[in-house]
Amino acid sequence: MSDAPVLHRGVSKTSCRSCSKPIVFAESSSTGKLAPFEEDDAGLFVIENGKARYVGTPDKTPAQLELGAPPPEKVQRWTSHFATCPHQASWRKPR
Ligand SMILES: [Zn+2]
Repeated sequence: MSDAPVLHRGVSKTSCRSCSKPIVFAESSSTGKLAPFEEDDAGLFVIENGKARYVGTPDKTPAQLELGAPPPEKVQRWTSHFATCPHQASWRKPR
């Protein structure tokens, strides 16, 4: 096993074996299988406890905050590396 730093419980950073981009593997909430994700401020997923949760497009215009309300916590967003890898064809499983 590797001793890569643990980012979240059950999730450790690695790099894409195809394009070397830093990624993490997280369990897809839809399939329950591990899938690669890359950091992306405009990503559609957040990762919690090793599981990727789809949260949709980030708000472009933050909601009006009530006076004195604490600013919303910045949450790291993630994009599926399946979709963005330049070598994504190599990810596809052979039939
Ligand atoms: Zn890649």
